[in-house]
Amino acid sequence: MGKRMIRVRFAPSPTGPLHMGGMRTALFNFLFARQNNGVFVLRIEDTDQARYVKGAEQYIIDSLEWCNISVDEGFHVGGDYGPYRQSERKSIYRKYAEKLVLAGKAYIAFDTQDDLEKIRKNYERSGETFNYGVYTREGMKNSLSLPENETQQRIESEEPYVIRFKIPENVGLAFSDIIRGMVNVNTSTLDDKILFKSDGMPTYHLANVVDDYLMKISHVIRGEEWLPSLPLHILLYQAFGWENDMPEFAHMPLTLKPDGKGKLSKREGDRMGFPVFPLEWTNPVTGEKSSGYRESGYFPEAFVNILAFLGWNPGTSQEIFSMEELIRTFSLERVVKAGSRFDPDKAKWYNHQYLQKKSNAELATRYLEILNEKGVSAGRESVEKIIGLIKNRANFIEDFWEQSSFFFIPPVEYDQKTVMKRWKGNTPQILEKLKRFIAGIDDFTSANCEKMVKEWIEENKLAVGEVMNPFRLVIVGAAMGPHLFDIIGILGKEETLGRIEAGLKKIRIPL
Ligand code: GLU
Repeated sequence: MGKRMIRVRFAPSPTGPLHMGGMRTALFNFLFARQNNGVFVLRIEDTDQARYVKGAEQYIIDSLEWCNISVDEGFHVGGDYGPYRQSERKSIYRKYAEKLVLAGKAYIAFDTQDDLEKIRKNYERSGETFNYGVYTREGMKNSLSLPENETQQRIESEEPYVIRFKIPENVGLAFSDIIRGMVNVNTSTLDDKILFKSDGMPTYHLANVVDDYLMKISHVIRGEEWLPSLPLHILLYQAFGWENDMPEFAHMPLTLKPDGKGKLSKREGDRMGFPVFPLEWTNPVTGEKSSGYRESGYFPEAFVNILAFLGWNPGTSQEIFSMEELIRTFSLERVVKAGSRFDPDKAKWYNHQYLQKKSNAELATRYLEILNEKGVSAGRESVEKIIGLIKNRANFIEDFWEQSSFFFIPPVEYDQKTVMKRWKGNTPQILEKLKRFIAGIDDFTSANCEKMVKEWIEENKLAVGEVMNPFRLVIVGAAMGPHLFDIIGILGKEETLGRIEAGLKKIRIPL
């Protein structure tokens, strides 16, 4: 037999926006597919109609696209194993559920919600939990406990029923998970899960296993929350006689809150000051907005890099990985078992790193838009130069304004603390002289200004600080910003002189 073709799937339920954990699942599946020349399938698991949220499907597509995670088969791109929405595969599932009933591996159950509620309450009263399974099924209303003709009659009179899986009694099940290693369970602890609901829809378990089989999925890579379902899924493969086609499983660790206490949930993010969603999301019912990484100024490459390190590491000190490098380096074997804590400061650090790698020209395109929104008109050439001077002080393009507004707008006020500290009795006299000297500089480049002003300071026997500190204050308005000569080189002589003049007029030491 030849090597099995690698086919993986990302199988979100469209119940709302994907969060970081979901995006990580998609990414790891994608990386695994690409590095094995395999196929990455997107399957929409929308069997729970009550939880369907409008716009969620489009959100999934947009988020994957933003992250450069391309889909090979899916409802939006087609493929040989469609349809790729479970709601469009309804007719398939019933057949498989009925097959199991005929084989005696599943059964029909008539218990109503009320019946089950009552039994559950009774159990609770005596301090126990009810488990519809090996030990209790005989006492319930189903095709195993009722006479055959009664079952028939109930079906004919269209009484609603579900199909439940008949968990085998007392079988020791041992199976391995690529990330978690060997897992052992005794089947008697499992319950007879519903496979097919009375509304004509399959449950997640049935649809998931049938689809993985029909879509020839070779590896199931998903979140740890599905690990408890794995024994049932394995029993289903066995019941259908599909053991030889069973995929391999890899359950990824939980993503935890920054303090490590508990799962990072969809509700948590904005409350803790960072987004949990890739893209901004507006709840279609309440109109409530949740922030997204994209809108918060993250680059998709940085976001992907952040996701990759949620539970995986390369075993080296390298932290910056392009998608190509991730495809080459990623391995399921290096995914850890323990929950991985999300670190929002580290997330910013990643963005900072990617920002440094971008060309000034590329960054300028977006910054020019921001400047335009602020009503500031500036030439591309000088904006690119300015970006070159300040980008190492920024994590996001949105930080540029804070770091560079003084290039575009002269100071209207001067930082009081700096005035108190740096504006001395002889400062006006020094700046007055400096102004006259600067007026005589012809070659007004940063390097030449620096050379000449430094010589001038020496010749006049002044201290560097008593010149440069107030000089920066009148140019910038505060004790901040990049190399001062770089700033005046961009501002030009006239503007520089004007700012010294304005500072001399306006700055007064408070008495
Ligand atoms: N529909 C499930 C989810 O939303 C998929 C679980 C799986 O990958 O098997 O997470």
